[in-house]
Amino acid sequence: MEVLEDAVRVFQREADLDFVDPRRLSTLIDSLQGTLSAALHRARKRNEHQVTSQSACSWAARQCQMSLSAAADRLCVGEQLESMPRLAEALRSGEVGFQAAATICHLRDRVGAIGARLDEEMWIDNARRFSVKDLRDVAARTWHAVDPAGFDRKVENDHEVRQLFISETGGMYRIDGWLTLEGGAAVKTVVDSLSKPLGADDQRTSKQRRHDGLVEAMHLALGAGTLPRRNGVRPHISITTTVESLKRELGAPASELEGGLTISSKTAQRLACDGALHRVLKAGSVVVDVGRVSRAVSPSQWRALKARHRTCAFPGCDRPVNMTNPHHIEFWARGGRSDIRNLIPLCYFHHRLVHEGGWQVIRAGDRVEFIPPDRQITTRRRWGESRWAA
Ligand SMILES: [Zn+2]
Ligand SMILES: [Zn+2]
Repeated sequence: MEVLEDAVRVFQREADLDFVDPRRLSTLIDSLQGTLSAALHRARKRNEHQVTSQSACSWAARQCQMSLSAAADRLCVGEQLESMPRLAEALRSGEVGFQAAATICHLRDRVGAIGARLDEEMWIDNARRFSVKDLRDVAARTWHAVDPAGFDRKVENDHEVRQLFISETGGMYRIDGWLTLEGGAAVKTVVDSLSKPLGADDQRTSKQRRHDGLVEAMHLALGAGTLPRRNGVRPHISITTTVESLKRELGAPASELEGGLTISSKTAQRLACDGALHRVLKAGSVVVDVGRVSRAVSPSQWRALKARHRTCAFPGCDRPVNMTNPHHIEFWARGGRSDIRNLIPLCYFHHRLVHEGGWQVIRAGDRVEFIPPDRQITTRRRWGESRWAA
C-alpha cells in the first residue's frame, strides 16, 4: 500500500496535467477500482463488517466514503470476478472499464441466481463495442429474456424505493429523488416538450430551460383548475404583499409566499399581473381582500385577447396562446387597466423576462415593442422605475 501511496503522491506533485492522458489515467483508476472490489469482497468473507454490526454494504460504504449503491457495485464486482478470470484480466489491463465490468457482474449475479450462465468472452466483446449505457440496455434485455420473473421483482423493488424530496434551502428549492423508469419517462417527456428555446433571443442554458419547463408545467397544472381542492379551495400560489410593495416604494415591507418565504417585488408583480394575487395587506397589516375582479382579466377579455393572438406576443415565441398568461403592459398597481389595449399574452418565460429580466414592453399605436435591457433609455417616474417596466 505504502509503495502505491508514495507513487500516487509523487505523480500528483510532479505530473504536468497538460501531458496527462485522461484515457490512461481513467484506465488506471478503473483497474484500481477492480482491486478495491476484490479487497472489499475478501473483507466481507472475513466478516469484518460484523464487528460493527452493520451490513457488509453499509460497512463498505462507510469505510470507503461512498454511497450504498456504489459500495454494492464493488461488493458484487469483487464476488463475481472470482469466477470470471477473463473479465478480471480485462479490467486490470484497461480493456474493459469499471462501469462496464460492474454491469456484466450484476448480470451474472442475477442470471446465476436461477442457474443460468454467461458467455464471458461474448460479454467482454460487448463491453468493448458498446457504450456503458448501451451495454446496460443489452444486459437488461438479456436478464429480462432469461429471467422475466426476476426482472419483474427488480422493477417492483425499484418501485418500492421511489422517492422525491422537495426542500427549501438558502432561498431556493432543491429537488432530489429516484423515479421509476416509467415515472421518470413521464416527467422527462413533459419537461423536454416545454424546454425548447423560445424565440431567437433565448439565451438560457439547457439546464435553465429544463427548470423553466418543469415550473411552466406546474403553472399550467395550477391554471387548469383540475387539481383536487385542499381545505375547500383549488391549489394556488398565495402571496402576501402590500400595495406599497407592489409599487416598489422605498421602505415597503417585502412580499412573501406562503410559509414566510420572501420574494422580490418584481416577482410579486408578475404573480399579481395575471390575477394570481390572492390578497393584499394594507399598511398597518390590515388584510384587505382586493377581489379578483378589480384587476384580473375577465373571461370575455381573455377570449378577445386569444382571438387577436395565436401565440405568446414576444417576437419569435411559438408558445400557443392557451399556454400564456395575460400581461398588463402598464401594471395595474400603477394604474394600468385590464382593458384589451393594455393586455398581451406572454408565456411563463417571457412573462418573467418582462417583469424580472429588465425587458420593456411599449405600446406604440397599434404595435407593441419589446426592448431589451441594453437598449433602454430610462425614463424615471415617481417610484423610480422605468416607465413601462410593469
Ligand atoms: Zn405581467
Ligand atoms: Zn413566449
